[in-house]
Amino acid sequence: MPPAHPFDFDAALSDGDKLKEECGIFGAVGVTDAANFVALGLHALQHRGQEAGGIVTHDPDEGFNSARRFGYVRDNFTSARLMETLPGPIGIGHVRYSTAGSKGAAIRDVQPFFGEFSMGGAAIAHNGNITNADALRRELIERGSIFQSSSDSECIIHLMARSLQRNIPERMEDALRRVEGAFSIVAMTRTKLIGVRDPMGVRPLVLGKVGDGWCLASETCALDIIGAEYVREIEPGEMVVITADEGVQSHQPFRPQPSKFCIFEHVYFSRPDSLIGSKSVYETRRQIGVELARENPVDADLVCPVPDSGTPAAIGFAHESGIPFGMGIIRNQYMGRTFIEPSEHIRNMGVRLKLNVNRALIRGKRVILVDDSVVRGTTSRKIKEMILDAGAAEVHFRIASPPTAWPCFYGVDTPEREKLLAATMTEEEMRKHLSVDSLKFISLDGLYRAVGEAEGRKSNCPQYCDACFSGEYPVTPADMIKKGFQMKAAE
Ligand code: SF4
Repeated sequence: MPPAHPFDFDAALSDGDKLKEECGIFGAVGVTDAANFVALGLHALQHRGQEAGGIVTHDPDEGFNSARRFGYVRDNFTSARLMETLPGPIGIGHVRYSTAGSKGAAIRDVQPFFGEFSMGGAAIAHNGNITNADALRRELIERGSIFQSSSDSECIIHLMARSLQRNIPERMEDALRRVEGAFSIVAMTRTKLIGVRDPMGVRPLVLGKVGDGWCLASETCALDIIGAEYVREIEPGEMVVITADEGVQSHQPFRPQPSKFCIFEHVYFSRPDSLIGSKSVYETRRQIGVELARENPVDADLVCPVPDSGTPAAIGFAHESGIPFGMGIIRNQYMGRTFIEPSEHIRNMGVRLKLNVNRALIRGKRVILVDDSVVRGTTSRKIKEMILDAGAAEVHFRIASPPTAWPCFYGVDTPEREKLLAATMTEEEMRKHLSVDSLKFISLDGLYRAVGEAEGRKSNCPQYCDACFSGEYPVTPADMIKKGFQMKAAE
């Protein structure tokens, strides 16, 4: 994997200043050339992981085949030569941004992982993070397992190998009962496509119907690209086993627990054209902007999004406040790795390579900038400087999520707690640090209202995982506590 450089789609914009989406998973069964469907699905999920991707298929004549590559799906899985090596009516795939395992590392960490069992082979692709993986790995190694990768997800394959159950879905149930944390999984045997969500349903997984076949995906946008019909979400704690002949069989292998879907999926991770439940992500983000404007009004002349993720919230903010909406910052859509390695001078241009100010619109105006989150604050500072350089009279930040003060241990890459601006500063200290005229975040209750919880957050049993804002972790991050992470003190 080449080092991140400023022409990298993500790095130039974020400068490590966005939470990194986790992974995207996709599977299809009962279709001709499943690999093509999987590649298209992964392409639609590329925002969830740009580091690497992999596909496994099975064909009755050719057996299992796999391909794992660094880089974008479009740069690898569009080659006819490669796709011809992945025949068969069933396949699964994974796009990755590493959240566990070594970062920017070896191809052996790229999923799907494959295991050969006495009853046949199985491949799995995992989105999430296992919070007791260190303990499991130690135990498995002591009992003779030989790990191929540094990924937490490989524990699942080894736990399955040790199960005494007679078929793969039952072995998978056995394995997952030992696992703590967040997981959405697509897996496959020679004939079965399997989908599972952890008992709290932290990470998403949806079911789609395509022709006579079926598919599973992290988000509905991946169903749209292959013309599949959105059937429903896989429920928290549900396992579906799907075959071409018998369709979908649903199981509930885990003890029921209150649902804790990741609320940040609504704010940032999911694509705005996806549905969560039956609700449009775009519409939820627009509503977040409405709540933000109600909670934190300010006199100004222009509402500008920090593109692209701040755009729906800025539209909602402008609508509610009555202040005109304008594209005061323009994003260069043609970033990629097509440039030669830039000089140090160009590297230092950072955010300007990705974003530019629409000077004619900004000059002399009191500007409200709407962004999805503040993580380290480095990008926010640079954007503020660009806006002031362009002649803005005032700069007001409005943030479509509460202060991100805690790391995520459920499949999202977050800087260490000390590097999160909100972990060490009050709101007023952050405002001074960013040197802006005002800085306000949506409240947790406001965010809950925007996602459809009219009464706000139930503090005795929150309806979502919001640990990165509240510090209240629905699953104790056992491995991290052993490494010295300090949980929030009980109030
Ligand atoms: S900690 Fe934050 S990012 Fe992680 S699952 Fe919970 S809400 Fe999502």
